[in-house]
Amino acid sequence: MRTSFAIALGSNMRHPHHGAPAQLLRAALAALDAGPVQVLRASPILTSRPIGPSQRLYANGAALIETDLGPEALLDHLKQLERHFGRKTGGQPWRARPLDLDILLWSDGAFVSSRLCIPHKELAKRAFVLAPLAQIAPQWRHPILNLCIAHLKARLDRKAPGA
Ligand code: AMP
Repeated sequence: MRTSFAIALGSNMRHPHHGAPAQLLRAALAALDAGPVQVLRASPILTSRPIGPSQRLYANGAALIETDLGPEALLDHLKQLERHFGRKTGGQPWRARPLDLDILLWSDGAFVSSRLCIPHKELAKRAFVLAPLAQIAPQWRHPILNLCIAHLKARLDRKAPGA
């Protein structure tokens, strides 16, 4: 059965072939829109410089996709894409990653297994996820918190202005 998901895309590392994080995310979006997955909407890619001594550039985006894959099969598919874009397990500094793909929301609601939790646990706390998501799915209602994405973003902006 075809269902839809909201996906977060993030990068904080230059890629030897694709270049800066924002360019890498554009390439990742193109790669995501293939095979079993169709990208319905993609947010603009937002870049930010973290506070503190790190010189890393961060890029974040969100996409709405449609697929016949169930949640776990989609997770496997996304992990394959992460590997394709050079994400290694170990060997890299903590949180340095060419590509990070997370499942945020599912049109069928909540899903929990030993390796997957939908909605994503950190969704309501992360401005860098809510900002791009609110541009493409402001009315999508979080099935546990029972608040829509635009509302969650406004709530977080009030708590942490400028975050
Ligand atoms: P991270 O490295 O922070 O992207 O998280 C890695 C692990 O989190 C994955 O291997 C998944 O098994 C698990 N996980 C739990 N919930 C989710 C989700 N909604 N989307 C992606 N990964 C998830």
